[in-house]
Amino acid sequence: MVKKLSTGDITEARCTRCQEIMNHTIVAMVEEKIVRVQCNTCNGVHNYRSPLPAKKPAVKKPLTAKTTAPRVSRKDPAAGEKQEWAEQIVKMQPELAIAYSMEGKYKVNSLVKHTTFGLGIVKRQSPGKVEMLFADGKKMLKSQ
Ligand SMILES: [Zn+2]
Repeated sequence: MVKKLSTGDITEARCTRCQEIMNHTIVAMVEEKIVRVQCNTCNGVHNYRSPLPAKKPAVKKPLTAKTTAPRVSRKDPAAGEKQEWAEQIVKMQPELAIAYSMEGKYKVNSLVKHTTFGLGIVKRQSPGKVEMLFADGKKMLKSQ
């Protein structure tokens, strides 16, 4: 139940002097609409202004590119892979690297040492081939 307001009641309104939502005493009403109020804080009498903020048209955010600036150049398609390798290799233990051989079968995320490409991280092992991430980027190599 909404209590009907009448003159003399206290209502929240935006005060023209305080510039804030304050309690106001209703001074005048026209039918059910509050028209004049007196601020209980500064005692100023003014037209009633709804405490609700004036509706502003929704401001659409301009479409921005990704908030995180790309750390890698777009010119080098393998740059992301190189970075990925650099980030992952520091967590690996090179002394545990398995020597690469075409007869090998590799576990994902294991470290492999290739005579040409150096240290590689196994990304995917499928029958007959293994995808590894090397300092130069991803390479597909033969495996078991
Ligand atoms: Zn006021």
